Amino acid sequence: MQDLVTEKWEDFLKRYYWHETIDLSNSYPERRSLLVKFADLDIYDPAMAEMLLDDPDVIIESATRALREMDIPTGVTLDEANLRIVKLPMKVAIRDIRSNDIGKLVSIEGLVSKATEVRPRIVEAAFECPFCHHIFSLLQAGTQFKEPYECPQEDGGCGRKAQRFILRADKSRFVNAQKVRLQESPEELRGGELPQALDVDLEDDIAGEVAPGDRIIVTGILRSYQRVTQYGKKLFFDIYLDGTALELKEEEFEEIVITEDDEQRIMALKEQPDVYERLIRSIAPSIYGYEEIKEAMVLQLFSGIAKQLPDETRVRGDIHVLLVGDPGVAKSQLLTYLVNLAPRGLYTGGKSSSSAGLTAAAVRDEFGDGRWTLEAGALVLADKGIAAVDEIDKMKKEDRDALHEAMEQQTVSIAKAGIMARLNSRCALLAAANPIGGRFNTYEPISKQINMPPTLLSRFDLIYTMIDRPNEERDTRTAEHIIETHYAGELLARYEHRGKFEEESRERFREQVEAMKPVIPEDLLRKYVAWSKRNIFPVMSETAKQKFMEFYIGLRRQGYEDVEAPVPITARQLEALIRLGEARARARLSDTVTSEDAAQVIKVVTTCLKQVFVDPETGKLDVDWVAAGTTKTRRDRARSIKELIKELEKEYGEDVPLDELLNLAEEEGMERDKVEEIIEAMKRDGILYSPESGVIKFVR
Ligand code: ADP
Ligand code: MG
Repeated sequence: MQDLVTEKWEDFLKRYYWHETIDLSNSYPERRSLLVKFADLDIYDPAMAEMLLDDPDVIIESATRALREMDIPTGVTLDEANLRIVKLPMKVAIRDIRSNDIGKLVSIEGLVSKATEVRPRIVEAAFECPFCHHIFSLLQAGTQFKEPYECPQEDGGCGRKAQRFILRADKSRFVNAQKVRLQESPEELRGGELPQALDVDLEDDIAGEVAPGDRIIVTGILRSYQRVTQYGKKLFFDIYLDGTALELKEEEFEEIVITEDDEQRIMALKEQPDVYERLIRSIAPSIYGYEEIKEAMVLQLFSGIAKQLPDETRVRGDIHVLLVGDPGVAKSQLLTYLVNLAPRGLYTGGKSSSSAGLTAAAVRDEFGDGRWTLEAGALVLADKGIAAVDEIDKMKKEDRDALHEAMEQQTVSIAKAGIMARLNSRCALLAAANPIGGRFNTYEPISKQINMPPTLLSRFDLIYTMIDRPNEERDTRTAEHIIETHYAGELLARYEHRGKFEEESRERFREQVEAMKPVIPEDLLRKYVAWSKRNIFPVMSETAKQKFMEFYIGLRRQGYEDVEAPVPITARQLEALIRLGEARARARLSDTVTSEDAAQVIKVVTTCLKQVFVDPETGKLDVDWVAAGTTKTRRDRARSIKELIKELEKEYGEDVPLDELLNLAEEEGMERDKVEEIIEAMKRDGILYSPESGVIKFVR
């Protein structure tokens, strides 16, 4: 029966894969896999295709033998070639794998979350007898290394028993092996489910082909092994996939199918004169207000253009946004909303539970069986998508360092213990942070309040502060909005429970739901974004270029006229502007960044600069306020306060009375509470301290 199957395969390969086989023989053994599409086999012989799924071990073995023994006109024997079956008709979700799948050929799609380094695994060990020096081999399968007890007489050995036989690596056969962990893609998870994972063994030429963060489809044979604990063997089995073929999923958004019908709806939407406003109003309609943040989120969804500049440097197109603010202002809600909307969105906390954190880690644990494992963190897993990181202020120190590269170059480099790897993190980051003291302090620069270095802050294209100050009008409207949304939710819950509406609530409910619905249905919005990102690559119009130029130079001028003046804006912000302009053009499905796009994103950036970069003391724009954690006025003040203290030391010694200092500062024209504030800041920074109340002293 085996031989029959092998013959059949030979016939199949000759009729369907003759070209490919000859091609392969020309580049053999560098290339040594023949990829066979399941559908072709199904056309050739449906019964054999069916058998392949049910009993893959036998069928693939016959197929491989057919390939390896085939007479090929090039004269090459493909004696170590592999036959790999790809494109199975059905994919199994990791969480749907059941015991009857064991031993079957299945295709599984997912995201590579970890991968070990590629190391040779011994498949046939050669041993030398210590007495007669006979060399013989022993096949290695399973998890434990098998060693001989005696020199085998049947193949010409002396038959003596020995404690130790000499392993001859030079005569042994090895195969490259890698183990990866595949986890369910975030977009397949519903409502905060944790992703499930499956380990996959990859051998020979498919080892080392994937890196953490890659999205792949693996075809393979599902196998099981018995769980063993310190108390012995258990009744339960663990499963893993013996990978036989790999396909990389390159294109982003390919998950989203756009039909001709959809395309018509997309075009109809594009024709609406207020399409941009509609997009903004479609973001998180249950959250009241925050139009400017929702606009930033729209721009983030579409993103600018990732470019290769003529000198080979790569500039990111992804837009990074940071929300800093008081607790309970809907930061987390906004993040979750965007993640659910965005294709390939991923939500995580800054203090994520995995050792890989936000970037990546190299670890050596049982997963790798002695090999090092590279583990992808959130930004790598979100490659080509959007990563929402909540409470980013709580991230690990290593992440804080690695995030610089991950955000700007969009790669994560790991160099540790022989592992040298560079993973991609081409994603947009939407981060939220809570100030250290719990509440936001408008007089303190952000970088101090959220424990994030200024260098990292400057990598965000847009930063928003969300301050919860009582304001009767706004509070009333927010409260109304929240109460009405909850009311609609209550009505819906009751309806679902009873199966019918009470007469008076039906109308109410319809109104509520209408008011709460996104202007553009989510499904259409997703397709609209995907279509735009696939098809729209806008370029700046002359007028747009000019507008950006004027804005940038206009703000920089502050610095030309007065060298002592604060730096109002840097080239980073100019790049951000261009990106945002491209994103806005994409949002309108336009091939040109028009002067209107330019004007609008200048407004977006200005709003953000005003919130974050204005020195609260002078009201002037000053990126140092964020970038260096201090402003020029404050630096000057601190300097003069130091001088005043030194002045007073002449009279009072090292213990300077606070009152005297405040009086003197007031005489010099400084406001009393500003001075008190700066003294507090200097105490926090370890420049001053109070040996007793009412007295200050330099830390020396
Ligand atoms: P944060 O992450 O900023 O601490 P959350 O996102 O957890 O806040 O929000 C707290 C709750 O308050 C959420 O249930 C949210 O829906 C609600 N909430 C806060 N502000 C608004 C708003 N402007 N509109 C609607 N709901 C709001
Ligand atoms: Mg929160």
